[in-house]
Amino acid sequence: MTNVLTQQEMKDLSNSLQQKKSQRATQIIHMGEEAYRLLRFQQLKSTELEKLASQILETDKTIYETNKKLYRAKMNSSECPSCHSSLSQDAKFCGSCGQPNPHYKIDEVEEVECTYCHAYIEKGTQYCPCCGSQIGGTTDNEL
Ligand SMILES: [Zn+2]
Ligand SMILES: [Zn+2]
Repeated sequence: MTNVLTQQEMKDLSNSLQQKKSQRATQIIHMGEEAYRLLRFQQLKSTELEKLASQILETDKTIYETNKKLYRAKMNSSECPSCHSSLSQDAKFCGSCGQPNPHYKIDEVEEVECTYCHAYIEKGTQYCPCCGSQIGGTTDNEL
């Protein structure tokens, strides 16, 4: 057994070290997801984890709201499929060529507040797209 390694061996070792480190990061994420799920269903009790979970919920909410904002901005600046001039969501017909706007929406989407994460979500949705809680129906989350 020798402590002397060739350049190639050193390179291989440091590569596999990097690989193991990223494997570990992935495993930690999986464990975190599972812990988060257990916390959500009150099968795990830990003040420290609950603190982390509430931070995750805030992050989830920010991601959700940002996605929604981006999506609406995209809808609002769609382009006419016939002449490619830009159309706004509330224009029923294209101002340049008169073709109907496929993204035209008559009403604003009605929204309700999720009781669990307080994100504003589309009315009639069964499960919150932000935190996954069931909307209306049971109030188990309130306990
Ligand atoms: Zn057009
Ligand atoms: Zn929610």
